[in-house]
Amino acid sequence: MRKFKTESKKLLDLMINSIYTNKEIFLRELISNASDAIDKLYFKSLTDTSIEIAKDNLRIAISADETERTITVSDNGIGMTKEDLERNLSTIAHSDSLEFKLENAAEQGDAIDIIGQFGVGFYSAFMVAQKIEVLTKRYDSEEAWLWVSEGVEGFDILPAEKESCGTDVIVTLKDDTPDDNYSAFANEDTIRELVKKYSNYVRYPIQFETRLQQALPKPADAPADYKTQYEDIVEVETLNSMVPIWKRGKGEVSDEEYAEFYKSEFHDSSAPARTFTVRAEGTLSYDALLFIPAHRSMNFYTNDFKKGLALYSSGVMIMDKCPDLLPDCFNFVFGVVDSQDLSLNISREILQHNKQLRAIARKIERKIKQELLDYQEDDREGYEAFFSAFGQVMKYGLYTSNGQNNELLKDLLMFYSVRDGKLVTLKEYVDAMHPDQERIFYAAGDSVDMLEKAPIVKSVAKKGYDVLLCVEDVDEFCLSALAQYDNKTFQNVANANLDLDTEEEKKEAKSVAEQNSELLDAMKEALGDKVARVAVSTKLIDEPVCLVAEGPISLEMERVIGQLPNNLPVTAQHVLEVNPKHAIFKALQDAQEASDSEKVSAFATILYDQARLIEGLPIEDPAEYSSLVCKFLA
Ligand code: ADP
Ligand code: MG
Repeated sequence: MRKFKTESKKLLDLMINSIYTNKEIFLRELISNASDAIDKLYFKSLTDTSIEIAKDNLRIAISADETERTITVSDNGIGMTKEDLERNLSTIAHSDSLEFKLENAAEQGDAIDIIGQFGVGFYSAFMVAQKIEVLTKRYDSEEAWLWVSEGVEGFDILPAEKESCGTDVIVTLKDDTPDDNYSAFANEDTIRELVKKYSNYVRYPIQFETRLQQALPKPADAPADYKTQYEDIVEVETLNSMVPIWKRGKGEVSDEEYAEFYKSEFHDSSAPARTFTVRAEGTLSYDALLFIPAHRSMNFYTNDFKKGLALYSSGVMIMDKCPDLLPDCFNFVFGVVDSQDLSLNISREILQHNKQLRAIARKIERKIKQELLDYQEDDREGYEAFFSAFGQVMKYGLYTSNGQNNELLKDLLMFYSVRDGKLVTLKEYVDAMHPDQERIFYAAGDSVDMLEKAPIVKSVAKKGYDVLLCVEDVDEFCLSALAQYDNKTFQNVANANLDLDTEEEKKEAKSVAEQNSELLDAMKEALGDKVARVAVSTKLIDEPVCLVAEGPISLEMERVIGQLPNNLPVTAQHVLEVNPKHAIFKALQDAQEASDSEKVSAFATILYDQARLIEGLPIEDPAEYSSLVCKFLA
């Protein structure tokens, strides 16, 4: 027996003792090798006229024997010589990065990445096989060879007999263990299922061959004791569909067909909201078929949900969810990418491979953006429903990308507009802005209802400016990550720097503040660290007080951060603004004049707590608040 080379041995070791749960992919690997072998013969025949092949006869055949525990994958492709067997099956192509990966995987006891991402091909059959035999004859040779290996120890190559060219790979399954039911792989239904799952779109027919015994018709002159005679027949069933739906032109496929494909492939009971394709030709060519679901799946916010697109190489599935093809902000997209330029061949530079994936991912990202913009444009209602399902994901994507996704996402966002009473895009807001308006005004809080009634929002709206209402926790963080839209910065209306007053209003407020400086100081003193300042408000109309923030942390951010687990509470710098036109202000002035500091202090506390309540913020000491209020009611 001959020994495997070191690298092959390492890989084999990993395979044989694999903890990899996806053992079933071995069939995909064998089928893809068979398909490659047919490709090779076919391409040769195009330039070498001495090769006669009937294109229609090219096929991959699978048969299984449940009692013998074998599966055979046969092709009528190019076949191998003795030297080919030595080179191709007895050593694996050298690659530094593979070697590195193997070392790592061995250390971490983890072969998942290599198998999952690159398809380690032929050797993967050792995950399920105790013995593999390869019977092969090259198309231009008279000699057939049998390669046999029972695993890591080594292999033999023996002269053999084979009628026609091509290769039969005969896998003898391992014995069943409590954890692994290897016998199942010899079951017809399992094979049918696996072919559908992984190799449905291989270009050549994958035929399942069942050997049956069929009774021969009874001869007319049959003797009385005639025993029924049987003949062996082979029943052939094609298991794969061959032409992938994404390879067919958009015009050739009906909406229903796309919807059916989506539903069965991605396990959704409703049709997708949008279906679109990407076709790239040139140095890196590929086809993609993408779907935007009509709703969030049940597991969308759970750990079970994995983003990614199915990745195929020439119709052979490499990965069912390739996460690198989708940015997090578009994790809701489903679909398939198929490229003939991505090879299952691990001998290719792995980095190169990743570079190609990145290029595809970039283009797909732009296509998704364009599709969503079109959606917004031609089906506003649909887009709004989509946005209510997935808008949050995009906002998080923007917030967490350090500005990198700003361009990608900014036009896809929508916020509720006070003026229009519906969702608008930032572009629509900016287009409708006052010529002299330089900032985009927004308010953040719990609900549209509450914000619409907020004193500050009303006062800004009264000045003729639209205000966007941010009612999801992520909204304000998203806007602060975005920083600006069309050179307009975002302004929280509940910030002390709002500054929408006329010179006259400012002058008036200044003089009121000066005249009442003792009162304001006394209130500040009563409230202590709770507020940075107590100020005279220019914006309040009917309300006695309001709370605004000073500095970068808004009141809403304080609330949101305060709810996060394990987060140190962050406090905004509060400014309590009092309305000098409100009757309560007169009462405060009177108490101050009468040097009733207890009353001033009590009023200050009540008003501060009221301002917090209006903002939807909790109050520190509800019992104290209640007893103070009662004291003045009684
Ligand atoms: P890959 O397919 O990525 O090259 P594999 O480990 O799957 O790697 O296969 C190794 C090599 O063995 C192939 O490149 C091919 O040359 C040869 N080979 C495997 N299966 C067949 C087959 N059915 N017919 C001809 N050659 C084969
Ligand atoms: Mg292969």
